[in-house]
Amino acid sequence: MPAIPQAKVRPVQQATELPPEVYRQAVDQADLAISITDPEANILFANAAFARVTGYSGEQVIGMNESLLSNQTTPDETYQTMWRELTAQRPWSGKLLNRRQGGEPYLAELTISPVVDRRGETTHFLGMQRDITELHRLERVVLNQKKLIEAVVDAAPIAFALLDQSGRVLLDNHEYKKLLTTLQVNEPAHTLLDGVAPNWRETLAEQPATCVFANREARVDRGAGRAQWLSVTTSQIEMHSDCADSYFCEGCQVGLLLVIADVSSLREEQERARTAAMQAVLADEERTAAMREGLTAAIFRLEEPLNVMASAAAVLQRRDPASAGVLQQALAASREHLELLRQVIPQAPRDIVVPVNVNEILRDVLEICTPRLLGAGIVVDWRPTATLPPVIGRPLQLRMLFKALVDNAIEAMSCKGWRRRELCLTSALGDNCIVVTVSDSGPGIPADERHKAFEPFFTGKNRNAGHIGTGLSRAQQVMADHAGIIDIEESESGGCAAIVEFRLDSDPTARLGGDPN
Ligand code: FAD
Repeated sequence: MPAIPQAKVRPVQQATELPPEVYRQAVDQADLAISITDPEANILFANAAFARVTGYSGEQVIGMNESLLSNQTTPDETYQTMWRELTAQRPWSGKLLNRRQGGEPYLAELTISPVVDRRGETTHFLGMQRDITELHRLERVVLNQKKLIEAVVDAAPIAFALLDQSGRVLLDNHEYKKLLTTLQVNEPAHTLLDGVAPNWRETLAEQPATCVFANREARVDRGAGRAQWLSVTTSQIEMHSDCADSYFCEGCQVGLLLVIADVSSLREEQERARTAAMQAVLADEERTAAMREGLTAAIFRLEEPLNVMASAAAVLQRRDPASAGVLQQALAASREHLELLRQVIPQAPRDIVVPVNVNEILRDVLEICTPRLLGAGIVVDWRPTATLPPVIGRPLQLRMLFKALVDNAIEAMSCKGWRRRELCLTSALGDNCIVVTVSDSGPGIPADERHKAFEPFFTGKNRNAGHIGTGLSRAQQVMADHAGIIDIEESESGGCAAIVEFRLDSDPTARLGGDPN
């Protein structure tokens, strides 16, 4: 640690050697209004600055009581406190409303010190005062301006928050405080910025200009009730530093102003139209998916006897080549037909790769499944994390995936006589991942069958009911494409819990074969 330079200390005796006249002149010529009184506050001495501040010349005030200066409006308690301190031989500082000789009131900032003799008795009082009327006026102007700005900002129907470079909220308004209840977080600004500008902490600290953006939307999901859409706009504000060390230099600190507008009604309108369109697309895709699965299953099953026939033809080749030839011809023709069948399998629709809000997907799926859930008397518990960072993915595939999981749950709990019918959907932000759980209170999948559930064509349901069991294997493929995983566990109620995990630290764009726009 560098050595702190020591100030040169002169011996105290040197000061006492000053001629008394110097003291007198120093006090007389000081720019501070100084008066010396007897113990009853009768003025014995007043300097030139005292005359300038009060308007009374030395001759006019000598022998008068200091109360001469009183405007008679300072509260009695102030004088009582003042005299209590002075009587106890302690100095007193405070503000008094005085009146100049011409009758003009002024605000005086006063310090009075008792002068105590060797016997411990107060012989005099030393009073020092300065006129702080202008300072007080400026303080009030600033205070009034602050109140005015606060009133305007509070009356605004949008939320404001001003952050310093460390992310601390310096100023906010009523609408912003309301967000504390809505989002149920300590600092709504942080939660919203996490959602719309994930690296905001680093950029605000190092390059605040790059933190400026307009109209980025954050969707806030609450378990019960409607989702809320908040549009966030930021701007940079340059503020003067209030640190002492910036007094002589242009110290400047940057603030980030967040303006948060609720655009829920607009988005709800758009959402309604979107949900209707999406319902149609999903229904269509489900129909073609059923055809795809049916044909795939048929081809898969037809291949089994063809393979048996191929082995038989190979065995027959040596003993009866003519019959083997006929068999092989039949086999070739069958394979040709199978190939034709393969070619008519409808293709999966083109689905763009975009940043996806998982909560939005889950809410869409719940909305689409609502009639079935109501029909089956299932109670839904939707517990989303208020805001989630986006994942890169194919929205249609993800909707199909979660719809398949919800459909599975509905199916499982719909068996006759099953009493407990509860579906719980949660989304949570984990360590660099988003975890979604779809759990039901159905009969569940036995532990030894859980791993088989992901095999193609495995079904725990009645095959005659039209299930061919490709749902979970398809879900697993979709998650693998999205750099995630899906697993099945026992739910708290003994039913089935599908756990879907999206990694946030890997980019699935290449695997999904598209650029997120
Ligand atoms: P006061 O009759 O003076 O009494 C007001 C209260 O103070 C009462 O409760 C009383 O009990 C108590 N009190 C008064 N004198 C004493 C005392 N000697 N010992 C104990 N208690 C006492 N006042 C101003 O308004 N403006 C000034 O600029 C100002 N400067 C002062 C500078 C000095 C150095 C001192 C010592 C006092 C100063 N005062 C000043 C105080 C002033 O002397 C009066 O006390 C005050 O103005 C109230 O006056 P008053 O006539 O309304 O009431």
